[in-house]
Formats: sequence, C-alpha cells, structure tokens
Amino acid sequence: MRLVSCDRYAARTPASIRARVTELLSRVGITDPALRARQFPHEISGGMCQRVLIAIALAGNPALLIADEPTTALDVTIQAQVLDLLAGLRREQGMSVLLITHDMGVAAQVADRILVMYAGSLVEVAPTAEFFAQPGHPYSLGLIQAVPRVDEARAKRLAAIPGAVPEARDRPAGCPFHPRCPLRLDLCEAQEPELSPAGSGLVACHRSDQVRSDGAVIWAGRTARAGQS
Ligand code: SF4
Repeated sequence: MRLVSCDRYAARTPASIRARVTELLSRVGITDPALRARQFPHEISGGMCQRVLIAIALAGNPALLIADEPTTALDVTIQAQVLDLLAGLRREQGMSVLLITHDMGVAAQVADRILVMYAGSLVEVAPTAEFFAQPGHPYSLGLIQAVPRVDEARAKRLAAIPGAVPEARDRPAGCPFHPRCPLRLDLCEAQEPELSPAGSGLVACHRSDQVRSDGAVIWAGRTARAGQS
C-alpha cells in the first residue's frame, strides 16, 4: 500500500478522495466498492460493515491494528471471512494485529500469542499452542475447560467458573482472582502475584507450577453456575 501523509490528504480533491475510498473498500474485499462508498450503513450487511471498519483503520496505514471483537454477532461463515481478511492484510502489510475476543476458538485459530486479562490485570502471556496445551493460570484453564468440545463424549457437565468478575471499585486485595479460585492460599489473599516466567511465557499466579502440572483436575466436575460463590 502507498504511504500518504496527512498533508497530501489535505491537498486532495473530492475525486481523488473518492478514488482512495474506493481503493480501500476494494482492498478489504467489498464488491462494487464505488457503489458501496455511496451507501449508508443500514444499506449493507453486518459482515460488510466490519469490512468497512477495517478499511477505515487501514486508511492510516497502521503498524498495529487493534481489532476489538471484530467477529461478534457474525455468523460463522462471515466470521471466517473476516478472520481470513485480517490474516491476509497482516501478511501483506507487515502490520501487527491485536485481536480482542472472548471467543477461545477464534483466539486459537488466529493468534500467535495469547494474553489473558482478569479484572484489569494481565494474568498470563503464552504462545498459542502452549497456552491451550498447558495453561498456567487457573482462570485461563477455566476458560478453556468451559468450551464445549466436539471431539469428546458429553459424559459430564461443562466446567464453570463460579462467581463473577469484580467491579473495578471492588477489586479484592491480593490476587484479584482469589475469591473464585479453587487453589487459593492465605498468601493469595495477602499478596498479588507478579507476572513471572512459566514455560515459554509469563503467569501471575502463586501456584502456576501446580496449574501447569495438574491442570486437568482443578476445574473438572465443577458444576457451579455463574453468580454462585
Ligand atoms: S495466586 Fe492464588 S488465588 Fe490467584 S490464581 Fe493463583 S492460586 Fe488462585
């Protein structure tokens, strides 16, 4: 993509701006971009709206694209198309993409590295394959085990993490996850763990070694529903 400075944009004519808009819409795979450029958002589909947003973000030729829930409310076919588009643009432009998602399947599919946040804090950073094979934080493990699997028999209920994420003003002392954590110690209530090396990544947990070695049993068989403590 050609770099265009703000000064050069200021000197552009309406016709050249229209051409640039059409080029960007075409770049994100919108068919008949000249027509779409003249339409209102309610005249195009949800998937196309996402593509337009990505085109707007690309207009500044970013080194980092922050995509916040780019696939929310899209059906799986359109979701796959949007993720393919982001992956292709990332390769072509050599930019980084910070994808924010609650969908573990999407994260597993597209991310090189996973960062997990809880109550405003980063609690785990790991390469994707290692994260899903051997998470080091109980919260990460609970999220993974709460995802239904098509390759396993439905012999038991899905694991669930009891309780809810605290409001920012009610953040507990010590480890912010301790009221919900089945592994908590007295130390956890007194001292917030720092991000420390674990495997190839970082984990903020006083018991990350145990989570990484015994993880499968920590949430197994739990049936508490959200809202219970
Ligand atoms: S520090 Fe303690 S309470 Fe926090 S996640 Fe680790 S084991 Fe659980």
